[in-house]
Amino acid sequence: MTDSTADTASATDPEAVPPCPECASEYAYESGPLLVCPMCGHEWSGSAPTGTDDADHAGDAADAEIRDAVGNALADGDTVTLVKTVKVSGAGGGSIKVGTKVTGIRLVPGAADGHDIDARVPGFGKMKLKSSVVKRAG
Ligand SMILES: [Zn+2]
Repeated sequence: MTDSTADTASATDPEAVPPCPECASEYAYESGPLLVCPMCGHEWSGSAPTGTDDADHAGDAADAEIRDAVGNALADGDTVTLVKTVKVSGAGGGSIKVGTKVTGIRLVPGAADGHDIDARVPGFGKMKLKSSVVKRAG
């Protein structure tokens, strides 16, 4: 290597070499993967840490979970009770009263209209409910 003059030239570029974090000297220079300060002898890594973007994906499928009105995670086959009276639209009409027990629910993850539970409600038959109006029983 006979590029000592090139080193001197690059050290004058303030954008390529930041000042020394120890003594704020502007004469730091690159030495391989490190930056070196000739004033105080400090060496540090000039490149930003890699892989920090992954931190945003730490939520392990938490948002795929369907939770009841009080925050319990629901699962296929669970038994739930209504925490509020729900009006039924469509054939027959009427309303499902608060406290009605529904067994063997089926979850519908990602339901666009918020009705994320498939249920068979006594007296009403198969219908969709919102997880926000039920509470897991037992
Ligand atoms: Zn320094």
